[in-house]
Amino acid sequence: MYNVNEKGFYGEFGGAFIPEMLKPNVDELRENYLKISESEDFQREFHQLLKDYVGRPTPLYFSKRLSEKYQTQIYLKREDLCHTGAHKVNNTIGQILLAQKLGKKRIIAETGAGQHGVATATVCALMGMPCVIYMGAIDIKRQAPNVARMKMLGAKVVAAESGSKTLKDATNEAIRDWINNPEDTHYIIGSVVGPHPFPDMVARFQSVISKEVMKQLKEQSHKSKPDYVLACVGGGSNAAGIYYDFLEDTEVGIIAVEAAGKGVSTGESAATSQLGRQGIIHGSKTLLMQNADGQITEPYSISAGLDYPGIGPMHAHLYASKRAEFISVTDDDAMQAGWELSQLEGIIPAIETAHAFAVFKERKFEPDDVVVINLSGRGDKDLNTYMEYFNL
Ligand SMILES: *Cc1c(COP(=O)(O)O)cnc(C)c1O
Repeated sequence: MYNVNEKGFYGEFGGAFIPEMLKPNVDELRENYLKISESEDFQREFHQLLKDYVGRPTPLYFSKRLSEKYQTQIYLKREDLCHTGAHKVNNTIGQILLAQKLGKKRIIAETGAGQHGVATATVCALMGMPCVIYMGAIDIKRQAPNVARMKMLGAKVVAAESGSKTLKDATNEAIRDWINNPEDTHYIIGSVVGPHPFPDMVARFQSVISKEVMKQLKEQSHKSKPDYVLACVGGGSNAAGIYYDFLEDTEVGIIAVEAAGKGVSTGESAATSQLGRQGIIHGSKTLLMQNADGQITEPYSISAGLDYPGIGPMHAHLYASKRAEFISVTDDDAMQAGWELSQLEGIIPAIETAHAFAVFKERKFEPDDVVVINLSGRGDKDLNTYMEYFNL
């Protein structure tokens, strides 16, 4: 009901709305991704790398002090402890293995804040595959440390100089590259966005998160399943990962946290479910922030990873069907929540992740509720923003 159907739709959202010239590439992927990723060989290699290279399973940690403060049972799924510091590598490992099995020799990706570029460059170094990362010229200036990381990992970073010189322009360049190199190149998309089968493929690779939660919770708590799973949503991959095995079990509440930026009605926001209407972005029908003429409006959030004008089609459907509760959190509330987690548990979260923790100020839970939060990434990359904000 809530997962993708055989046509690539989540309810009315999803599909593959792509230019004719891209069709052979997407068709090849669609026809092969399940056969390959569900094969025994693939699963063995995937889980071996997740264990030995990424460091999985990541711990499920009962957050004693946060639980005391908010009078409910809070568990943290520690994706911040993955190699490279966030969940994104679960997906890039899966996709590069798939690319190899398809006989591809070259990897491309686009990146905005640089996190997906780093996760992609990492697995290309691991596999010895050439890697080209497209990035808006403005983002290259704004995200210098991540550009340096990608270069150090052996990737070629290509500046997109057209349009607003940000993520959307980098995406256009990557699509052009893929159209020109259909035989030997795989395009690694970094979230549950893009044309079918990308959202489903990425969700499946990230679903290792909810599979681990299910097992760990049985061992560690008095309940066999959570009352709520909770995550921040940019494109929606870390959220899809922690929701995945609970989607059809409506006894498990699903909470999605979006970035309100300076406030939902200030014009500087990224709260797509509140501000978006149906539209097409990156080949997928979904909720999209746009003006009356259908032009995509620039999103804003203090966190670069949530600064995206759409959401994945799975999340658009979870919103429209009311399966998930959507909450939006301002920059200020997220920064305070990041501070609080650091002080109460000794964990400095990524600012994306900090948004999820701000929920406890917005919403009450029962004392017996088990709430599992996806701690999607660590805050090292955001230290400059924390320093400026808190005058450290
Ligand atoms: C990229 C990123 C996000 C947002 O992406 P999703 O696809 O929505 O998960 C969230 N948290 C961290 C730490 C990230 O790096």
